[in-house]
Amino acid sequence: MSSAGGLQIRGVSAGYGAAPVLKDIDLEVVPGTIVAVVGANGAGKTTLLRAISGMIETTGTISWDGADLRGTRVEDLVRRGIAHVPEGRGVITELTVEENLRLGHVWRKDKDDARRATAEVYQLFEPLARRRTSAGHQLSGGERQMLAIGRALVARPRLLLLDEPSLGLAPRVTAEIMALLKHLREETGLAVLLVEQNVRSAFSIADQGVVLNLGTVAVNAPADQLAGDDELRHAYLGF
Ligand code: ATP
Repeated sequence: MSSAGGLQIRGVSAGYGAAPVLKDIDLEVVPGTIVAVVGANGAGKTTLLRAISGMIETTGTISWDGADLRGTRVEDLVRRGIAHVPEGRGVITELTVEENLRLGHVWRKDKDDARRATAEVYQLFEPLARRRTSAGHQLSGGERQMLAIGRALVARPRLLLLDEPSLGLAPRVTAEIMALLKHLREETGLAVLLVEQNVRSAFSIADQGVVLNLGTVAVNAPADQLAGDDELRHAYLGF
C-alpha cells in the first residue's frame, strides 16, 4: 500500500482553534486511485480537504510525490498537480459556462494546452458544451457540479480533491458524475480524494474507503471489502 508517489498524510492534526478537529490522521492516495472519505456530519471530512490544500494550520506531514506540501500557495498547488473543488461548487453564477472555464486558465502558463484541456472538458461533459453561453445561475445543480469539476480539470490535475459532489443532486445525476470520475481515473490516471455523505455512490467507484469518526480514521480498507462488511456498515455507515 505504501508508495513514494501520490499523497501521503502522516500524523496530521488540524482545526480552527484550540481543540483540533482532525486528530492524528494517516492516509494515502496512490496515483490513479479513488479514495472515498465518508463519515457523519461534522466528522472532519471538509476539514481534511482544507488541511491538504493548506487553508488551515496543520501539524504532521502532508507530502505529494515525495515533497512536503505544507506552506504551498494555491497557485503552486495547482502547478504541482492538485485541484480542490470545494463543497458548494464555487461556480460564479453571474458568469457564463465559457467564462467560468476560462477562470481555470489563470494559473496555466501553457495557454494553448489550457485551450485544449477546455475542449476536452466540453467533450467529457456534453451538457456544458450545449450551454456554453448560459450563465451559471441558469444551470441545473448537476451542470454546476460538472462546471466546477471541469474548471478544475483545465489545470490538468493529477489529484482532485472533491467535496460532496452529490450534494443536492438527483440519484441519476449523481450516478452520471460518479461515472465520469471513474472514466477520468481510467483514461487519464487521475487520483481522486472524494469526500461524500453518499456512501453507496462513493463506494461504487472508490478503490479505497476511509471512514472518519470524530476526527480520526476509524476504518481504512478496500472499498468493496467495506461495502460488503455488514458489521462495519451498520457501525459506521448506517445501512
Ligand atoms: P459535513 O458533512 O457536515 O460538511 P464534515 O465531516 O465535512 O461535515 P467539517 O465541516 O470538517 O465536517 O467540520 C468538522 C468540525 O469542525 C465540526 O465540528 C465543525 O463545526 C467544525 N468547523 C468546521 N468549519 C469550521 C470553521 N470555519 N470554524 C470553526 N469550526 C469549524
